[in-house]
This record gives sequence, structure tokens and C-alpha cells, in this order.
Amino acid sequence: SPVIMWFRRDLRLGDHQALTAACDSGHPVIPVFIHDEVVESHGAAPKFRLGLSLADLAQSLEDKGSRLILRRGEALGVLRDLIRETGAGAVYWSRLYDPDSKARDMVVKSALKDDGVDAQSFAGHVLFEPWSVETKTGGFYKVFTPMWKSVRSRDLAGTLPTPGDIPAPESWPQSDNLEDWQMDAPMQRGAEILRGYCTVGETAASHRLGAFMAHRVSDYSKNRDLPGVDGTSGLSENLTYGEISPRSCWHAGWRALHDGKSDAEVFLKELVWREFAYHLAHHTPRITSDNWKEDWDAFPWNTDERLAEVKAWKQGRTGIPFVDAAMREMYVTGTMHNRGRMIVASYLTKHLMCHWQIGLDWFADCLIDWDPCSNAMGWQWSAGSGPDATPYFRVFNPVTQLDKFDKGRNYAKRWLAEPYDAPTDTALSYFTMIPRQWNMASDNPYPDPVVTVDAGRKRALDAYENRDF
Ligand code: FAD
Repeated sequence: SPVIMWFRRDLRLGDHQALTAACDSGHPVIPVFIHDEVVESHGAAPKFRLGLSLADLAQSLEDKGSRLILRRGEALGVLRDLIRETGAGAVYWSRLYDPDSKARDMVVKSALKDDGVDAQSFAGHVLFEPWSVETKTGGFYKVFTPMWKSVRSRDLAGTLPTPGDIPAPESWPQSDNLEDWQMDAPMQRGAEILRGYCTVGETAASHRLGAFMAHRVSDYSKNRDLPGVDGTSGLSENLTYGEISPRSCWHAGWRALHDGKSDAEVFLKELVWREFAYHLAHHTPRITSDNWKEDWDAFPWNTDERLAEVKAWKQGRTGIPFVDAAMREMYVTGTMHNRGRMIVASYLTKHLMCHWQIGLDWFADCLIDWDPCSNAMGWQWSAGSGPDATPYFRVFNPVTQLDKFDKGRNYAKRWLAEPYDAPTDTALSYFTMIPRQWNMASDNPYPDPVVTVDAGRKRALDAYENRDF
């Protein structure tokens, strides 16, 4: 009887523990992706990007004599239908750790087991299972640096090879057409431009890792902070859909380190930030929806999405160049440089005193590398309400930050049209993507700040002083 390989955020064939186990089982394998309620809740850019990844995976499976069966509906019901139709005796998948996926998977696992089906989850989406990393006194790490020190020298097993031909069943169950899912529909005007910024699929991800290790990792610690320089790996969009395994990245980092590229250690450390986010979400699922530090519940955040300042922030017209450049970069490319993420998050939650959830939701709509755990940790870290947070009274100054990290204004000029005489095509592309009702034109005067750096900082610090932390 066949094994159903249920793909989710593990859209690759190489270094795939669940798929390898399915292929080694001696049974035919039926690869399946389910457009369920968790996928339904994805924002526009993540959904679009997922559609690209599914098309790539379907092709890779075909090259191996297999197929990707697409079904829509509630996961357990779909799996039960497939089991009935195909006589499958087992369902395998790679574990996820965000609260929505975990809740779904627990229900699926126990129901399938009750049905007498061999339901098995496998590792692969993180380097270290959340329950395998503990502080000396027991419990999970709430601070990053000690966690990094405890895992940095851990040996990880070697990566698994891509299976040869994947054993096919005698007959295939019916599949939806990917085009009918219209994964690009919510993107409106921007799909084509955004597509140009995506690096899709397992092969492309692996080339990207190789190119990074060959050319850029040596200067990573200096360049990773410069948003105008292509100094980081760009692998987050691939890691989020599992087009590459974190273990492949970890091994590549160690190889570079052994080759004398000392900056590779900083890259390994960044991979552990991703782990930290997953472990926190596993142990404290409220991180994705509520203040991680509960004493922040009393803070007078603005929660009204309709505020003019919130609109200006989303639309990249706060009048603060670093903030606007970064927000436009995200709208056009679906990613934002990490320094930009820290700056726009600080500006929204501190200068504008808006609830981090507003920013988290907007990022979840716009990012092709949207990751439920890293996004939540990033926002709460920036707002001061999260674990290992930047001290709440540290308010980034987006003006001095631009002077420091974008001296030649490469980044600002790439993304802002209004302040410059001959705007770049990239800066202009923003205006072809945004909704018409935003009413923005590249030859408008650049706006004055919605909240100035000094006034916003003072207001936030006053609010912090008036409450009892
Ligand atoms: P590199 O510098 O090449 O780093 C390598 C990998 O390490 C990344 O691909 C990523 O998987 C991981 N990593 C690096 N920094 C972090 C970090 N601070 N937290 C967690 N993992 C990290 N990252 C996402 O993948 N998805 C998100 O939705 C997301 N939202 C964020 C929101 C905010 C407010 C902030 C401050 C950060 C957020 N990050 C998020 C983390 C970080 O900005 C991105 O991972 C990074 O910019 C991706 O670029 P890169 O792949 O070139 O990273």
C-alpha cells in the first residue's frame, strides 16, 4: 500500500528525511500538497511565492517519474479521502513548529493513528529539535547568546542525497490544477515585477548558497549591515518554503569556516537566530499573537490601522528616507534588508507608538520570505515586548542610521524617487505596482516627516517612563 508524502514547508527532494523514509519503505510514494486553512490564511506575497515553489517541486517530481497531487480542503478530510482512494497505509511529513501548523498536525496525527494509519512526522525544518536544546537548569533558552554557545559546536548528521526515481503507484489519484488555485490573484498589479525578484526552487537555492560561500561570505560581517550592498545570502525565501534544508546551509557554513573564511561563523550564528525563533514559538506559542512579556499588555499602543501615520508607514511616505526606502523595497521585491526591518519596526512601534501586530500583519502580507516564527520574534524583539529584546528605551534613530549604514545613499537612491532628480528605474517601479487609490506619483514633492525623529522619540520615552515595567 502506498505512502502519502504530505509536503508543506519542505518543498525539496534533497536532504529530506520524510521523503527518504517514504522512498526507502519499499512502497509506492504519493506526493501531496494540500491547500488547507493554514495556506488559505497566507498573505498575498507568501501565497504567490508558494505557488512558484509548488510549480518547481511538481517539475522536480516529474523528473523523478513521480507527480505532485494537489488537493484543496481541510487537511484531515483530504488525507482521509486520499487514503480511501489509494489504499495508502502511511502518511509522512516534516514537522512544523508554528502554532497553527502544530495544532493542525496534532489533530491529523492522532486521528490517522486512530484510523490505523502509520502517521509519522520527521525532522528537517530546523537544525535542532526544540526539545533537544535546554539550559543547564532545564527549560528553553529565552536569551540568544547562551543558546548560540550551547549549540554552535554540535555535530549534525550529514545531509541526505536526493532520491533516485521515486516509486510511483499503479494509478494516480486525481489532482487539482495549480493554475486553478490562482495563487497570484491577491498580488493584483505586482505579480510580474515581484516574480523577477524571486529565486525559486531547490536548484536555484543550492546555487545561491554556493555563490554566497564562494564570493560573499568572506565579507559577511561587514557587508551584512549595509542595505545598499548585496552582502547577505538571500536564502530566507528558500528556507521558509524548505527549498533548501537548514542543515545544508549549516554544513556549507562550517566548510567555509574550515577553509579559513572566518566570517562564516557569523552566518552560522544567523541560522541559529532562526532556530531561536522556532524554539520560542514551540515553547511559547503566544509569541505570534500576544506580547511575549505580559507587562506590555498595559502599554498604550495605537491599534487603529486607519491612522494616517499607519497608512504613511505602509505606503512608504513617512518622510523618513530610511523607513520609506525599506518599505518600498519590501513592496517591490517581497524582501527587506534586515537593517531596514529593524529600522521600520522601531519607527512604527516607537516613534509612531503603534502596536507591533500591525507591522507583523503587513509584513505577513508583503514578504516572500514570510516566516510565522521569525516574523513574530523580529517584531517583538524590535518593539521591546519580546525575548532577548532590544532594551525598550533604545529607539533607533533612522537618520543617523542612514548616515552610518548607507553613506553613499545607494540604498535610498535605489528606492526613493521623489527626492532625486534622475530617479532609478527600480525606484520608479514602485509606482507601477502600488494600488492607484494610494494616489502617489514619482514627481510629487517628498513628504515632510509624519512624526519627526526627535518628537517621536520623546513621546515614546515619556510613555515608557509613565509606566511601571
Ligand atoms: P542572511 O543574513 O544571509 O542570514 C542567513 C539566514 O539566517 C537567513 O536566511 C535567515 O533564515 C536566518 N536569519 C538571519 N537573521 C535572522 C533573524 N534576525 N531572525 C531569524 N532568522 C534570521 N526572517 C524571515 O526569514 N522571515 C520573516 O518573516 C522575518 N521577519 C522579520 C521581521 C522583523 C521585524 C525583523 C527585525 C526581522 C525579520 N526576519 C525575518 C529576520 C531577518 O531580517 C531575515 O531573515 C533576513 O533579512 C533574511 O535575509 P538573508 O536570507 O539574506 O539573511
